[in-house]
Amino acid sequence: MPELPEVETIRRQLAERLPGRTIARAAVEDALLVSPEDPEAFSAQVEGRRIEAVGRRGKYLLVELDSGDTLAMHLRMTGHLHWRPGAPGGPGDDGERFLRARFDLDDGSTVTFGDMRRFGRAWIVPATLQDREGYWAARVGIEPLSPRFTGRVLARLLEGRRGPIKAVLLNQALVAGLGNMYVDEALFQARIHPLRPAGSLDPDEIRRVHRAIRDRLAAAGGAGGASIDSYRDSLGERGSMQDLLRVHLREGEPCPRCRTTIRKTRVAQRGTYWCPRCQPEPPPW
Ligand SMILES: [Zn+2]
Repeated sequence: MPELPEVETIRRQLAERLPGRTIARAAVEDALLVSPEDPEAFSAQVEGRRIEAVGRRGKYLLVELDSGDTLAMHLRMTGHLHWRPGAPGGPGDDGERFLRARFDLDDGSTVTFGDMRRFGRAWIVPATLQDREGYWAARVGIEPLSPRFTGRVLARLLEGRRGPIKAVLLNQALVAGLGNMYVDEALFQARIHPLRPAGSLDPDEIRRVHRAIRDRLAAAGGAGGASIDSYRDSLGERGSMQDLLRVHLREGEPCPRCRTTIRKTRVAQRGTYWCPRCQPEPPPW
């Protein structure tokens, strides 16, 4: 599943290519993508509009249109956006196997939304919406790469929470865009067991977690994200972060720090990887 670094990679690529272009045609091939909106009503709101910017909140991609409307998209499990200089299926291009929508731009380039499992969504956030910040704040928490995300802010978010640190960090309403893979990696780097109650971390441990989150996200951004399963960026390329994972998906392999065998369990219904020596188990309460 794409997490923050993957979505940010796509955003960066689209932000280099889309602003200034007009959407000549928007064809919704799968009504579920825009549900409960009617596909034709959806298309009518984007066709003929010029793209002003491509932004992001958490894992939501935001295409700002000159009408003041925002075309919001969420890739969920297997969704992906693919930009091409021409039409899909051209020379050297095998097209889009799970096409859900296609956007033709005025210079002949196209953006396709493909999605095998069909959890991805696209919708319009209307220009008439007054409280945009409130709209997004209700869906996603603080951006972990923004300067506002400090150790002190993280400490406040964790304070008093009895849930496992891993589950708390996965909560999109608290910290935006962190997913299973990067939480495992950050907790390993910070030497914190994923089942530690979030509120039990001391100030030094919180500082370590804060630093590790920023560090792992930055590393992933530099690597163009991780291509596990189906992830490709908007140019169809794989990221290389999967090669830099230290514990995630490495059950049975030696810990890169202490050579102890990496283990796997389930936390918050997610496969969770950790080193039993570097990340000691919390005492039973
Ligand atoms: Zn270890």
